[in-house]
Amino acid sequence: MTGLGIMGGIFDPIHNGHLAAAEAAREHFQLDRIIFVPAGNPPHRLAMPAAGAEDRYLLTALAVAGNPYFAVSRVELDRPGPSYAYDTVSHFQQLYKPERLYFITGMDAVLDVETWYRVNDLMSICRFVAVTRPGYETDDLARRVSADHLSGIDVIATPGIDISSTTIRERLRSGRSVRYLVPDIAAAYISKEGLYAG
Ligand code: ATP
Ligand code: MG
Repeated sequence: MTGLGIMGGIFDPIHNGHLAAAEAAREHFQLDRIIFVPAGNPPHRLAMPAAGAEDRYLLTALAVAGNPYFAVSRVELDRPGPSYAYDTVSHFQQLYKPERLYFITGMDAVLDVETWYRVNDLMSICRFVAVTRPGYETDDLARRVSADHLSGIDVIATPGIDISSTTIRERLRSGRSVRYLVPDIAAAYISKEGLYAG
């Protein structure tokens, strides 16, 4: 494999902002594959996702099924303990030994990178791709991220899609439409299983 991207997230649920961010990275870096990796259930109850891990995984699988470059992995679901990006990226690095390896995030996530588990080691095995996201400033990167780590981050400017899983959950809770915000097939599964309902 030449170019591999890893897109981690809670995906509670996956939405078109995630998909557009991954597609922007794929096109920009001419990646052969992007693997979406839904996080397992964190051990801390306060941080519990609204939907179970299996439902978040299934929604992600349904959402990426139509894109020949996209795939989904159970690796964080099946690994006990907290889900660390470092463990996940090194897993795929060893599995595929790609020539180029990228960890794809939105601008909000990359701004917190100094707090991440083994961030030095993570940055030594992959490059970071920070996709612009409405409400988060690229200018803040230099203020929040060390110079060493900044050199490992590529910023991709996109039109910006102002969708979050939080707003999707709020809409579903109050019975509002999520059409065109999440893929139709994911919306159908959410509705069938009654996920995120009041
Ligand atoms: P929540 O509102 O629950 O935090 P979220 O929409 O931020 O959900 P996450 O699962 O937390 O989704 O995000 C996974 C990854 O996708 C993160 O790196 C995040 O920055 C990125 N991301 C999510 N939404 C967007 C978006 N609209 N544009 C760009 N990147 C995004
Ligand atoms: Mg988030």
